[in-house]
Amino acid sequence: MLLRGKCHCGNIAFELEWEGGSAEIPARACGCSFCVKHGGVWTSNPNSRLVVAIRDPSLVSKYVFGSRTASFHVCSRCGIVPLVTSEIANHLYAVVNVNVLENIDQARIIHAAADFEGEAIESRLARRTRNWIADVCITESAA
Ligand SMILES: [Zn+2]
Repeated sequence: MLLRGKCHCGNIAFELEWEGGSAEIPARACGCSFCVKHGGVWTSNPNSRLVVAIRDPSLVSKYVFGSRTASFHVCSRCGIVPLVTSEIANHLYAVVNVNVLENIDQARIIHAAADFEGEAIESRLARRTRNWIADVCITESAA
């Protein structure tokens, strides 16, 4: 199954190759202070492959806070946050925002709450290496 998502203006677009044809998509409404404010709901699948295409990198703002281990890729033109990346031991991991998916039957998205506030950095990073998308390719086309 190939999932497609993009920010509102299309500057940040991605394709996510999801293992399994009719799998349910687990979605986590993150309870961190940033995600609560912008309504971030994330999904990932460790066996999936993510290809991100950025049209104009100068219009992507990378926001980090707290433990500074994750980068929120914010489109500075339309304000949407399609993905979060985390670099762990020189490897890039990612999760994507289920709200930017465009070719998905919403009934297949299984929502759950998640709150990782207060989690130690070590277990946070270990959890990401287990659960986040481990095959991430970000391409930037010259503006
Ligand atoms: Zn945009």
